[in-house]
Amino acid sequence: MIPFNKPLILGKELEYIRQAITANHISGDGAYTKACNDWLVDQTKATKVLLTTSCTHALEMAAILCKIKPGDEVIMPSFTYVSTANAFVLQGAKIVFVDIRPDTMNMDENLIEAAITEKTKIIVPVHYAGISCDMDKIMAIGAKYHLLVVEDAAHGMMAKYKGKALGSIGDLGCFSFHESKNYSMGEGGAILINHKKFCHRAEIIREKGTNRNDFLCKKIDKYTWVDVGSSYSPSDINAAYLFAQLEEAQKINHRRQDLWRQYYDLLKPLADKKIIELPHVPDECEHNGHLFYIKLRDMNERNQLIHYLKQYGISSVFHYIPLHSSPAGFEFGRFNGEDRYTTSESERILRLPLFYDLSEEELMTVVEKIYEYSVKYHGN
Ligand SMILES: *Cc1c(COP(=O)(O)O)cnc(C)c1O
Repeated sequence: MIPFNKPLILGKELEYIRQAITANHISGDGAYTKACNDWLVDQTKATKVLLTTSCTHALEMAAILCKIKPGDEVIMPSFTYVSTANAFVLQGAKIVFVDIRPDTMNMDENLIEAAITEKTKIIVPVHYAGISCDMDKIMAIGAKYHLLVVEDAAHGMMAKYKGKALGSIGDLGCFSFHESKNYSMGEGGAILINHKKFCHRAEIIREKGTNRNDFLCKKIDKYTWVDVGSSYSPSDINAAYLFAQLEEAQKINHRRQDLWRQYYDLLKPLADKKIIELPHVPDECEHNGHLFYIKLRDMNERNQLIHYLKQYGISSVFHYIPLHSSPAGFEFGRFNGEDRYTTSESERILRLPLFYDLSEEELMTVVEKIYEYSVKYHGN
């Protein structure tokens, strides 16, 4: 059996969790949360980073920080996870979906301007598979129309665009540390704040709308309710788990990039014969091996291959059902322009098993079965 994903546990997680418990601080913002925040600032060069209970919640914090009001419009791809849209819908926003580029599956930067109206407030690039959107172009559009840019960098930890960490380029960025992502704390995430003007309010929103942080820093002698907010700070037990992985981030990143490269090189002959398509990484992007996908000719073939691999105990999966064709997408959003690629490309995509502990033998088995499938069904 080759699972699609195996949650990562390196070794020190239990020791650090024990330390968090022995330190008598298992609620939020203990020593491990602070250590993770500091590590993430150091790694990404963001102005401030705060761990959150999920990437979904980091996106919700971003929507609140951007002061989204009912009727405001937010531009994003339809090929993304529901949380990208939901976070802004919760504040009353209307979602405007634009088409993706077929080569990277990222929002097509050349279609954004046409989607802007006087109600547009934010652009949300999603860095699919840890491969960056065209951030120079997106930041230039943001500046020209006075729009904020919130990066959904759920896949993007340790990936770069022109040497800059994903999540640190827009006004705000969001990471996910869900079990399915490269670095994990079970459920968790982080918000990257790239402007001083958002820093203080972010702490308040994360602490149930109180200025408790000023109290803990002894700036005030009692704390009180000052703004809207919620409970977005994770337990230090979860942060302890994450910290064990951050300490080994380079090692994890290299292993995943290596597995990604092996898939790519081994499957290249099939791509050369136009039986499958492989992911494209633009020159200015350094990816993090978050996920490896191939594209089949159509949905039928994709589903056939899933079934074929399953017979040999290999689990392969696909995502996303485009948001604009889901019931909530109809209610809360609209697709601007033509859906040339979002639906058709999402029907062809297939994700292969990729996780830190995947062995070379397992990877070879997956590749062999894909070749076998192609001989059986295509005779080559
Ligand atoms: C995983 C994911 C999220 C949500 O992350 P959670 O930490 O599970 O809330 C948001 N956006 C994208 C693109 C994701 O893949």
